[in-house]
Amino acid sequence: MAKRAFITGISGQDGSYLTELLLDKGYEVGGLVRRNATAEMGNIDDVKGEIKIYFGDLQSPESIALALLDFKPDEIYNLASFSSPLGSFADKLGSIMITGVGAFHVFERAKDVVPEAKIYQASTSEMFGAPKQVPQDETTPFNPKNPYAVAKEYAHRMAVIAREDKKSPQYISCGILFNHESPRRGLNFVTRKITAAAACIKNGRKEDLPLNEMGEPLVKDGKLKLGDLEAKRDWGYAPDYVEAMWLMLQQEKADDFVIATGETHTVREFAEEAFKVVGLDWQNYVVTDPHFVPPVQTGPLQGNPAKAKAVLGWEPKTTFNDLVKIMVHADLAKFS
Ligand code: NAP
Repeated sequence: MAKRAFITGISGQDGSYLTELLLDKGYEVGGLVRRNATAEMGNIDDVKGEIKIYFGDLQSPESIALALLDFKPDEIYNLASFSSPLGSFADKLGSIMITGVGAFHVFERAKDVVPEAKIYQASTSEMFGAPKQVPQDETTPFNPKNPYAVAKEYAHRMAVIAREDKKSPQYISCGILFNHESPRRGLNFVTRKITAAAACIKNGRKEDLPLNEMGEPLVKDGKLKLGDLEAKRDWGYAPDYVEAMWLMLQQEKADDFVIATGETHTVREFAEEAFKVVGLDWQNYVVTDPHFVPPVQTGPLQGNPAKAKAVLGWEPKTTFNDLVKIMVHADLAKFS
């Protein structure tokens, strides 16, 4: 019989790539989607006929329980979250309620309804915040510096408590994933802002420009506004990373794993590379604006994925330059 996987946040970047991976592996896939006015399925539009969609919300434990009761998954991937670190400063309560307490609802409802199901929790490198150790691994202390990361740390610690419960342990593995990007990354994230802006500028697009998180056109008077150009991140490619999620749930024992490339680049390097792909000099188009600098800075974030390599046999396949190329070429076609 085919295995059944249930994904919260299925319409997001990772949810959509994970869905494609699991369908390819012969899984039956179901997922939780927030109801919206247009029934817009975004990233899962192409596969919506092959999956079972449940309308619900991480803030509604009832909707989670009803979906699990009906779908009876063998594996649960909890990817739903209010996932912008910068945006979380503007809605601190929403961040803790969805990203933190919402994950707790998933663990608890799964324990009631499908106690044998293996669970993946989407933890994040943002939990390391301003780390005292570089690179970071599974033993590095957390020091979160934004509300999103605090909410994720709460969810992470609740997952570990549920896993270590001597009376009724749950199988919950946490992937501490470093930043991973793709053409499906939200336009409120710096990498996607850069690739979309480079594509719009190259294509001479003047109408229907994508908007940034302030609701302004991404390119205004020929310029792209960014925050701290020297911020360093460890950027990988999302399809590589969802494979690690699946591998974690194929292990006998639940555990925590850092998933990263081990390599860091600055925002400036990302911009330089992206504009190079379209044959332009980034310095003519990028300006800095303090509105895009978070009130408390995170970093430097650089992961050590040695445990994932040793235990899961996982390694990133896509290089930094290829990642930038993939994103820019997709945006050249999208914003033609
Ligand atoms: P994403 O594209 O922002 O997707 C998040 C998904 O969560 C969206 O489908 C969103 O639905 C859904 N969601 C938000 N609030 C919800 C709610 N109250 N109830 C139900 N669903 C809700 O994020 P991603 O990049 O795929 O990341 C997947 C997970 O990994 C997230 O938990 C993220 O925090 C974590 N993570 C990501 C990275 C990264 O670099 N991408 C790194 C580490 C960890 P709507 O479309 O309706 O908003």
